[in-house]
Amino acid sequence: MSDNIIGIDLGTTNSEVAIVQDGKVQIIAVEGDRLLPSVVGLTSDGTLLVGQVARNQHALYPERTVRSIKRRMGDGQKVAMGDKHYTPQEISALILRRLKRAAEEHLGEAVSKAVITVPAYFSDAQRQATRDAGELADLEVVRIINEPTAAALAYEAGHGEDKTLLVYDLGGGTFDVSVVRLSQEVTEVLASHGNNHLGGDDFDTCIVESLVAQLISQHGTDPSHDRAAMARLGRAAETAKIALSDAPYARIEEEYLLERDGHPVHLSVELDRHDYEAMITPFIDETLEALHIALDGANLTVADVDEVLLVGGATRTPAIQQRLEEVLGIAPRSDVDPDLCVASGAAIQAAVIAGHPVTASVLVDITPYTFGTSALSDRFGEPYPYTFIPLIRKNTPIPVTKSETFYTVMDGQTTIDVQVYQGEDPDALNNTEIGSFRIEGLSDVPAGNVIITTFSLDLNGILQVSSKEKSTGLEKRITIDNATARFEQEELSDARQRLSSFIEGEAVPAQSAHRGATQAQALIEKAERLMEDATPEDKEDLVDNIESVRDALESDDANALTLATDELADLIFYLES
Ligand code: AMP
Repeated sequence: MSDNIIGIDLGTTNSEVAIVQDGKVQIIAVEGDRLLPSVVGLTSDGTLLVGQVARNQHALYPERTVRSIKRRMGDGQKVAMGDKHYTPQEISALILRRLKRAAEEHLGEAVSKAVITVPAYFSDAQRQATRDAGELADLEVVRIINEPTAAALAYEAGHGEDKTLLVYDLGGGTFDVSVVRLSQEVTEVLASHGNNHLGGDDFDTCIVESLVAQLISQHGTDPSHDRAAMARLGRAAETAKIALSDAPYARIEEEYLLERDGHPVHLSVELDRHDYEAMITPFIDETLEALHIALDGANLTVADVDEVLLVGGATRTPAIQQRLEEVLGIAPRSDVDPDLCVASGAAIQAAVIAGHPVTASVLVDITPYTFGTSALSDRFGEPYPYTFIPLIRKNTPIPVTKSETFYTVMDGQTTIDVQVYQGEDPDALNNTEIGSFRIEGLSDVPAGNVIITTFSLDLNGILQVSSKEKSTGLEKRITIDNATARFEQEELSDARQRLSSFIEGEAVPAQSAHRGATQAQALIEKAERLMEDATPEDKEDLVDNIESVRDALESDDANALTLATDELADLIFYLES
């Protein structure tokens, strides 16, 4: 018998198993997938199903399928599956047995010990039920650890610094937020708060409800009592939700969804990210309230938080990451896969107990820089043409593809210039331009023509940027090699780049026709901002130069404008360097 101890995240929606091998965390796949749905079922002839196959039959045969058993742990009640009743421990044991078998297949030897994670709020009875489930699966549960502790271990493996971490865990059906204090050797949960009936599944339900409402209003038919149709809508909603984490629109196409008066009803809708985000805002608000309650419970404030760690699949929702950043003033970390981070931490704890060294967690590749474009947008309450619009944010796991919607601002605008920047400054002109391209031949339509811009960054640092007119599919793309590596000597070239972007920058997709004037305006605004800290002489120079640019603008003299903006750009460059 080996002394391997496996780490298990026995989740409400999915479960995972991991082990530390050669100092590194390995997530063990079960039937090719690293997430095992926490669903158990029986076929009509009584064959046991665990995982995805059980999940697939849930919508059609709920009477012989059990899911979310974690919610029932420790309540002493049995659940029905087929014509028999089982304790929650027994159902959980079937999931644990499947994970244990996968680990044994992976290792080629028997496994008898495990560390299993539970939510921080689990009572003694719930923890005991989890231990019992382990025993029933022939696993000695050497330790039960809190999920936020496991997450902290996964993120901080090998780091010795004292830190206060906020672990925000939003899964399919449960939410909790915990304040974790990490110090040398000790990791403790100071406070935890949540709602174990809140999660990504609620987001799916919002989408399903809107689809049902559309079917009623557009097709005069209510699918609510049609199990098969509702199952399809549920799956389509989840797929659309996941797509909206990376793109501004998601299409839902369900052909022959149901029949009305003998005629097939097809569902074809487009879901807009803004509409979707509006639907889920109340849920996000609730999680943020819980966050403050947890901080209060630990007698801390947002200013005390050193890091925010994201756990659970639903934290991939961009609106959640944005809201957390707004509230806490720090970008949440997602450099450990949010689905696998708790299992990784359990494996790290297991290795520590077994006396095996741990050198690395399952860190994913992330981009060290933010990539984005620029557009006319609100800045300090005023429209500013060079507002930086990040598409791929720093620390996002790669490979990644993200899309955003832009709109033309002029009637009949048939050309758009797209600038690609790398940097963190809200003013695109202070970032480094790494590419640009132009799309011509757009439809001659009023302002508001929808353009979808997509950034894809791969593991080799190759950035593909494309912009597409939504109505016609007209598209232009560029490839930028070495997007993540080329800035090592950034310091040196930064000033030059900044200057060149003043002269050549035509950052506003929507305003290319007014490029000279817009650029001049941006320079004036920049110069005015610099005036606040300038010496009296520099201030005077700035005022003179601004005056010349304004005169050139008024006289509509292109040459004079080029001359004056060049001079102003030179002066700004001199003042900034
Ligand atoms: P977990 O319980 O941690 O496995 O989380 C599962 C939940 O995360 C489910 O509701 C999934 O639909 C959701 N989820 C997974 N990937 C994404 C994504 N990219 N964007 C939004 N939600 C996601």
